[in-house]
Amino acid sequence: MPKLFSVRKDGTGQLIDSYNRVVRDLRISITDRCNFRCSYCMPEEGMKWLDRPELLSFEEIERVVRVLVERYDFESVRLTGGEPTVRAQLPLLIEKLARLKRPSGTPLDISLTTNGATLRLLASDLKNAGLSRINISLDTLRRDRFIELTKRDQISNVVSGIHSAVEAGLQPVKINTVVMSGVNDDEVVDIVRFGREVGAIPRFIEFMPLDGDNSWSPAKVVPANEIVERITDIFPAKLVSSGSDPAKRYIFDDQMGEFGVIASVTMPFCDACDRLRLTADGKLRNCLFAVEEQDIKTTLRNSGSDDDLAKVIEGSAKRKWAGHSIGNVNFIRPKRSMSQIGG
Ligand code: SAM
Ligand code: SF4
Repeated sequence: MPKLFSVRKDGTGQLIDSYNRVVRDLRISITDRCNFRCSYCMPEEGMKWLDRPELLSFEEIERVVRVLVERYDFESVRLTGGEPTVRAQLPLLIEKLARLKRPSGTPLDISLTTNGATLRLLASDLKNAGLSRINISLDTLRRDRFIELTKRDQISNVVSGIHSAVEAGLQPVKINTVVMSGVNDDEVVDIVRFGREVGAIPRFIEFMPLDGDNSWSPAKVVPANEIVERITDIFPAKLVSSGSDPAKRYIFDDQMGEFGVIASVTMPFCDACDRLRLTADGKLRNCLFAVEEQDIKTTLRNSGSDDDLAKVIEGSAKRKWAGHSIGNVNFIRPKRSMSQIGG
């Protein structure tokens, strides 16, 4: 059994799970609320939101991140939700996190995943606060389809948001597209064309069983290799190494950018998973599909020391499993849907 916490030659620590994977990336959900109702993520009606006091404050989030960075040399955090931009004062949180320095002095890599609805108003403030990268969700370029999928008539604001992110100098700007059979799989090439035009990197995500209304079925998943085939028939591209990035990256032969596919269902990347998740209500989750969580909020609010927080963190890393089993008979769907976990 590997040690959960190890010290490198240069004196910096790292967090190692029971399968010898280094854990160094934190996804932070900062709210469960959202201004959209994407069918693959949450039900249209009946969501019960967390009460405000249940949410971790910015100071509490900063403290957890500080411990992860100082003790285990975490490299990156991604803010998500729900929709992170609906949380007031988002740039303030980014400023706080941007002040944290890794033991080597290297800045923490801070990114955001957003639906982009208000990004045209926020992009430069986010960049000035210290955000480096951004992923914007866009599943269709057709207004009618967009309304059907998100229950909101906001496509032009999202497209303006993508342009604003590029103009603000966020680098890279990625477009996240969840591909669903018979819903939007006929648009993958159009979305690639759009990405090439605006200077953003499209990333196609296999539909996962974390939807709000339990309508997921294997038949609705479009396998990543099919997506790649459709794209490369029109825009030839070559697979390049992607390190610990869950997306398989393809660079276009004409050097006009790249696209990615995230095959979470057909080719899970659990062997290389380096993530931990923090939910908006202060629970650590060691996998998107975890069925148990570790409560760190109670420790934070009961005046726990950094050592106490570290104990909860190491306990979570220790329980991180080898991988999820979507599609197998022993797969158990987590109780929370995507918007409540933080995608
Ligand atoms: N509201 C933000 C957004 O939409 O980008 C951030 C939160 S959202 C839960 C994060 C990512 O999860 C989005 O890119 C979304 O498309 C993706 N997502 C949500 N439900 C999904 C599902 N069932 N399968 C695959 N991806 C999903
Ligand atoms: Fe909201 Fe993002 Fe979920 Fe859509 S995918 S409902 S924008 S949290």
